Amino acid sequence: MADPAPTPMMQQYREMKARDPDALLLFRMGDFYEMFGDDAVRASALLGIAVTTRDKDKGDQAVPMAGFPHQALETYLAKIVQAGQRAAVCDQVEDARFAKGLVKRDVVRVVTPGTLTDEALLDPRAANYLAAVVESGARMGLAWVELSTGRFSLTSLLRTELADELARLDPAETIASELAVDAPWLRALRGQQSHPVTIRPSWDFQLEQARKTLFEQFGVATVEGFGVDDRSPEIQAAGALVAYLRETQKSALGHIARLTPYRRAEVLALDETTRRSLELTKTLREGKREGSLLQVIDRTATPMGARLLSEYVTSPLTSPALIEERLAAVDELFQDSGLRNDLRQALGEAYDLERLAARAATGRATPRDLCSLARTLALLPRVKARLAARRSKRLSELEAAIELCPEVRSAIETALVDDPPLAIKEGGLIRPGCHEELDRLRSASKDGKSWIARYQSEQIRRTGIAGLKVGFNNVFGYYIEISHAQAQRGEIPADYIRKQTVKNAERYYTPELKEFENEVRNADERANALEYELFLALRDRVSADAPRLIQAGSALAQVDVLAALAELAARQGYCRPEVVAEPVFEVEAGRHPVLDAILPRGEFVPNDTMLSPEKGDLLLITGPNMAGKSTYIRQVALMAILAQIGGFVPARRAKIGVVDRLFARVGATDELSRGQSTFMVEMTETANILNNATKQSLVILDEIGRGTSTFDGVSLAWAITEHLHDVVGCRALFATHYHELVELEKTKPRLRNANVAVGESQGEIVFLHRIAPGGADQSYGIHVARLAGVPGPVLDRAREILAFLEKQHGPDPGLPEPEGPIRRKVKSGRALQGSLFASLPEPMLAELRQVDPGAITPEQAVDLLKRLRELA
Ligand code: ADP
Repeated sequence: MADPAPTPMMQQYREMKARDPDALLLFRMGDFYEMFGDDAVRASALLGIAVTTRDKDKGDQAVPMAGFPHQALETYLAKIVQAGQRAAVCDQVEDARFAKGLVKRDVVRVVTPGTLTDEALLDPRAANYLAAVVESGARMGLAWVELSTGRFSLTSLLRTELADELARLDPAETIASELAVDAPWLRALRGQQSHPVTIRPSWDFQLEQARKTLFEQFGVATVEGFGVDDRSPEIQAAGALVAYLRETQKSALGHIARLTPYRRAEVLALDETTRRSLELTKTLREGKREGSLLQVIDRTATPMGARLLSEYVTSPLTSPALIEERLAAVDELFQDSGLRNDLRQALGEAYDLERLAARAATGRATPRDLCSLARTLALLPRVKARLAARRSKRLSELEAAIELCPEVRSAIETALVDDPPLAIKEGGLIRPGCHEELDRLRSASKDGKSWIARYQSEQIRRTGIAGLKVGFNNVFGYYIEISHAQAQRGEIPADYIRKQTVKNAERYYTPELKEFENEVRNADERANALEYELFLALRDRVSADAPRLIQAGSALAQVDVLAALAELAARQGYCRPEVVAEPVFEVEAGRHPVLDAILPRGEFVPNDTMLSPEKGDLLLITGPNMAGKSTYIRQVALMAILAQIGGFVPARRAKIGVVDRLFARVGATDELSRGQSTFMVEMTETANILNNATKQSLVILDEIGRGTSTFDGVSLAWAITEHLHDVVGCRALFATHYHELVELEKTKPRLRNANVAVGESQGEIVFLHRIAPGGADQSYGIHVARLAGVPGPVLDRAREILAFLEKQHGPDPGLPEPEGPIRRKVKSGRALQGSLFASLPEPMLAELRQVDPGAITPEQAVDLLKRLRELA
């Protein structure tokens, strides 16, 4: 059956829907936002709202429908974008009272995860990036923008570098061309649940079109002034971003005033696994900010500062000169605690200037936003004055970057009342005395109110009805109300015209009242409309200065971060590192920044680290589990990061040579929960390190080779260590429980053994967490197993086996000279295995031979143990 002609409203709906079929269309009907058809079904699942049907009587033609009250818009928008979806908000754009026929509607904003500006939808402490990726020949163009602050960066890179770069940015949404839908990189991106991808017309990504878009946006004839090559692939990505913003925002984007090229060589390269392993911004297991490096060092006083610190931590610098500039500023703030406190106090009162200015520019700022903005501007003179005449170059530059924008501040302060209401169309925003016409309208309306009081008492006198009231409602306007009971007591005058009958009363009007109504209602309405207009003009006024305001905001953010790093250093006893170009790492009494902050003061055991080409720069740390190996090697990596963001480090003294790439891998066991073949993952990552590390890199390996059977593992660990030493030649720390590796020190001049000291007292082991030179010579595994509650008989049996093994092979099996060590080691390993298993019953042996330790899950291992137990 053919589709019956839709109602005019449904036709209007379909037109709107066709413009962006993928977005949920929220269609305003009276006091509700409604969704129809598939949208209703999708929304119901997403938002937990009920689906009903429109035109129920039409059977097959019935349209599913779901909706929510308009006051709940922000709440539901938040849910939609959190689920990675887009919504188009379609409002009534004319007053329903004056509409002739169908009321006009239009999409007034499109809300997408990557284009948020509303305070309620954003995490104040996290950036919210929209990214665009385009492939152009062998290169990829990548651009990213934060609409809520106007920051806009771009770069070009190799396809293999894309994933790490996106992991660094963690964009809320990424756009790509329709032509790329089958490209493997895009498929990989779209496969990630947490990574919404929006497909856009290829036209937007074409070089000529993209250039045109950018030239228009920035009012330039070339973007080379920003230091970007006009024809590079990142231009395509950047142009497509601007086109998408224009389409979704339907507003000016004046605050996006410049492009910042991102130079990868100036930033410490951190791949995704390294970020995760080091728990830079979130923890490995729970993915929470709590317990991460960022959370522990964050002493910022503003959300702008918190966002910038997060950017620092994910993108440390590599140029000693630039690092030194930040360090000098942190040092000045560290030493001058009065200055630091004053600045932090002022910052504590500041609002999010960057986001407020951006909201003004995109036409979303509320009257309260503008008040917050003016209050923040009022703090600037204090901050600027305190930054004047500082020693460090960076603080002086920041002082200069803060423009006070007094005209913006006074425009807001003179126009807006101190505490404006949330609603912007109902008056009460504008200060009396600042606009003549408005004052006149207001007094007309006020006079009107006293006129009513007078009129009411006149009418009471005239009719003798004491309960007579003059009232008002939106639908009927002004009326005289007389209750049925009261009506008996007097006379209804002849000029009273009946208007409406309500439950217990009768309502009338008089020609006089009607005339008055026209005047007063007009005055009220006109006053409100005028206030709204004045507010919009004020917002435009602020918007015109958005780039300067954002610049001041960004300067405040930097002051905040520098002061926060100084505060951290002062509170936690950090020292200023000497940052140099040579590949050294010399730290006295270094501490792990996170554990140090979590443990009670003084409980963390500090350790030295001395790496240099002369004294050795490959450290092999052996020792029992739980001794502190991982903690130690991670502390080295984290100190490198802290130093390279320009911060002080938790140590007594530190000399740190900049690292160009940092690689960190934690033991395979920590990855078990990810459900992948752990050994495969580990080897892929190791291959990545061996292929990409340079002489200037730092490599942190924790228990590499664990995911396979022991002798495979030892052999691989051995070979990897050799390669790092002989071929890569970078600084590296290698924590392992393979004691065999300590032999390498004999033949590798730059390799040093270290162990974690363990004390024994009355048969109990005590972890001293102290790193000492030399390899560990005793396995404490059995002691640790006892501490962990492994039953006594199992421990007894383990001691028996250990004694047996030591008798057969001596306490340290050692390893032969490096010529062909691996093959020979494997041989000796077989022998070891045979003699161990020879003492076991045959059925047990058969069972054991079938096991591939690298491939079984923890559950399977437990089952296996149970079966073996039965066989024993
Ligand atoms: P391993 O890697 O040798 O198994 P970890 O580095 O995981 O050991 O450390 C085990 C525990 O010991 C940590 O969770 C921490 O609580 C404690 N620890 C490690 N190093 C120190 C230290 N230097 N000072 C105090 N406690 C430490």
